[in-house]
Amino acid sequence: MKKIVLASKNSDKVKEMRLALQDLPVEILSLADFPEMPDAVEDGTTFEDNALIKAKFFAARTGLACLADDSGLEVDALNGLPGVHSARFAGYHADDDTNNQKLLDELGKIGATESKAAYRCALAFVDTDGTEIITQGKIDGTIKIAAQGTGGFGYDPYFYISDNRTMAQISRTEKNQISHRGAALKEMILILRNKFH
Ligand code: IMP
Repeated sequence: MKKIVLASKNSDKVKEMRLALQDLPVEILSLADFPEMPDAVEDGTTFEDNALIKAKFFAARTGLACLADDSGLEVDALNGLPGVHSARFAGYHADDDTNNQKLLDELGKIGATESKAAYRCALAFVDTDGTEIITQGKIDGTIKIAAQGTGGFGYDPYFYISDNRTMAQISRTEKNQISHRGAALKEMILILRNKFH
């Protein structure tokens, strides 16, 4: 059976990706199966660049097909920040809490209590023969300074979807149905299903 490594060290992303990919006739591995793996240097300027950098890096080191995600939050009132810097918005040792605090601080500096925003995701699949496939997804929403919910990860408690719930108040299955990552995964699955049936 074809093996595909989910090339992400973010366990929340891996859970969302595993759930979406569960019906594909492939064996799904993750970087947890390769404990000594170094980090890829994500120095691209777009989500697509960084997803491809990660997929190529880990495909070369594992010798297996790799699927990598690069994603982030773009806030209109912050001119699209944090964008590709979403994971490290609060600095090198940032985590979800410090990133969310930085988001609130930046909105506070401009006197905003909410702003239109979007999550974007690029997925890159690199096969053992070097074939590259990229898909993308986006979801529009609103960032509000009031957190709600304990699910999801990252900026989810502050990201409001159209029915005034946050991404942290919906199940992983529902999130995959509407999210940026879910949309990119849907398109990727259609392509991979044709390749590996
Ligand atoms: P990456 O691992 O370099 O792609 O960074 C992705 C970062 O974007 C995460 O660490 C989160 O801060 C943010 N992000 C991406 N997708 C989501 C999501 O679905 N919910 C919340 N935050 C997200």
